[in-house]
Amino acid sequence: TEVVLEAEGLTKHFPVRRGVRDLLSKDRKVVHAVDDIQLTLRRGRVTALVGESGSGKSTVARLLAQLYGRTSGDIRLHGDSVTVRGGRRFRAYCRRVQMIFQDPFASLNPTHTVRYHLTRALKIHGRAGTSAAELEENLRDLLLRVQLTPPERYLDKFPHELSGGQRQRVSIARALGADPEALLADEPVSMLDVSIRLGVLNLLRDLKERLNLAILYITHDIASARYFADETLVMYAGRMVEGGSSETVTQNPAHPYTRLLIESAPDPDRLDRVGDPREAPEDEAGGEPPSLIAPPSGCRFHPRCIHAMPKCSTELPPRFELSSNQWAACWLYEEAAR
Ligand code: SF4
Ligand code: MG
Repeated sequence: TEVVLEAEGLTKHFPVRRGVRDLLSKDRKVVHAVDDIQLTLRRGRVTALVGESGSGKSTVARLLAQLYGRTSGDIRLHGDSVTVRGGRRFRAYCRRVQMIFQDPFASLNPTHTVRYHLTRALKIHGRAGTSAAELEENLRDLLLRVQLTPPERYLDKFPHELSGGQRQRVSIARALGADPEALLADEPVSMLDVSIRLGVLNLLRDLKERLNLAILYITHDIASARYFADETLVMYAGRMVEGGSSETVTQNPAHPYTRLLIESAPDPDRLDRVGDPREAPEDEAGGEPPSLIAPPSGCRFHPRCIHAMPKCSTELPPRFELSSNQWAACWLYEEAAR
């Protein structure tokens, strides 16, 4: 299926400024937030980006949303590189690639109604229509798309008058106001009540199908990736370590870190628990995620890996293709991939 968005070699290092001595020192310290990310989003497909908190997955989404510039690497929409910030091509990109944040309450202005938020989105993107009646019709249409019915009941409400799930639906409606081709959803259900998470994920899936959207689904919960995503990519300490079809990666994980995530994840068949942070592997996977100021040499997972070999601490493992729908960046597969 058609490629919408691609990232190649995407890298972001943030400077660390802790004191005068650091400022004066020649080797400024940086946080290796993400390194060398490859990613492809396709029409009508959900790609999950899975990892612990602090693994860099939100940074990937923010780079793709152009919320800040990258240190190096390439981002392409339909094959066109987006290089200059602020130009016509950049604005078109920002319309077509919309982000949905974890906390719908923080992303909506509490002093404004649903009508205000959605009208503003439609106007910014030139989709408000030419008459009041047309605008009203477009507003209704957005709310119907996110299953807030009847729309009249929601249009003049303030964010605090809505439930968490309704607020997230309004955020999604606002993103749809731009008529996007890609949605970047950063932990879109992790702050919602367990009982309504599936409803929001099912809505996103329904939108993917009806609007043929490319969706990046960022989560710390690999069980929800199996349920919801077509493809799954696993990140550890700012790097991608495994990827492939969600079915293969979740049922037959190759990378030792992916296996650890799955062992500590809730039972994926218990969909009522999907995305439940109480059972999430975030802090339960054995050991600590490493510092990204001085990430471990070689394979970044080696200090925690039960299979580590001597070369693991000195040489960065490349991606090894295990089959047509699975790869892993782990020296265990060097032979198998030959
Ligand atoms: Fe473990 Fe080595 Fe594979 Fe890294 S490369 S996951 S340390 S076996
Ligand atoms: Mg995050």
